[in-house]
Amino acid sequence: MSRIAYVNGRYVPHRQAQVHIEDRGYQFSDGIYEVIAVEGGNLVDEKWHLDRWDRSLGELRIAPPMGRSALMLVAREVLRRNLVRDGIVYMQATRGVAPRDHAFPKRSKSALVMTARRKKGPSALLAEHGAKVITIPDIRWERCDIKAVALLPNVLGKQRAAEAGAFEAWQVDRDGNVTEGTSTNAWIVTAAGELVTRQPAHAILNGVTRLAVIEIARLRQLTVVERAFTVAEAMAAREAFLTSTTSAVMPVVRIDDVAVADGAPGPISRALREAYRAHVAG
Ligand code: PMP
Repeated sequence: MSRIAYVNGRYVPHRQAQVHIEDRGYQFSDGIYEVIAVEGGNLVDEKWHLDRWDRSLGELRIAPPMGRSALMLVAREVLRRNLVRDGIVYMQATRGVAPRDHAFPKRSKSALVMTARRKKGPSALLAEHGAKVITIPDIRWERCDIKAVALLPNVLGKQRAAEAGAFEAWQVDRDGNVTEGTSTNAWIVTAAGELVTRQPAHAILNGVTRLAVIEIARLRQLTVVERAFTVAEAMAAREAFLTSTTSAVMPVVRIDDVAVADGAPGPISRALREAYRAHVAG
């Protein structure tokens, strides 16, 4: 079966899906995106993703290419045409096509692209043994809360992780605090059993999985503290893990060359991974 993409009002074969060379997403990274997990045909935490989509558009003053319900109709149609019931849907909006000039064009029509694919997350085996992360300086801009397609530092960071044989790179700000991974949020469990993850300000993307895990943890009477933590604190933590739409809850067992606790996934990370799986399954 050939894949189908949605491109500015048309459903086209994936191989032939194209945008204009003067699309501002292509020239300036002037656009935003969302990745939503699909489980049994259901869009997981759809509302939180749409809230963030609208927020990202608003922060960049890009006109929504269409309203929420139309957007979800297109998403479901893309999933249907690609026979995806378990996987992800990717949606991207840019400020559209205009002669190249940095300032916003007077007239442009927001561009919208959507694709879907069957995608398995990282292997269950990796989650069973736990993942390794490296630490790198956070060289990104000061609005990481916007889910912009401008991801060059994240690309370079993930490549460094891959070359180091690690699953992710945790980015570290000038004060020595971990902000987040290149495509995941970072968490630790303290000696007192508290869950700590960076507060959702401009320095991180407020992950939808992060929000879901906060909710799940609090329902289980766990204490969640949203604050910064240092690399040293993470290395000495009782447990560490990371969260994202595609990785779910992934235990972290090694930070650079230091094992976290005994180097195996801890009970809280495991329990949260299980509980998140149940949440996704609805
Ligand atoms: N931080 C960054 C920088 C990301 O790119 C992502 C994934 N898009 C996340 C965190 C996790 O967000 P979510 O849980 O919504 O996938």
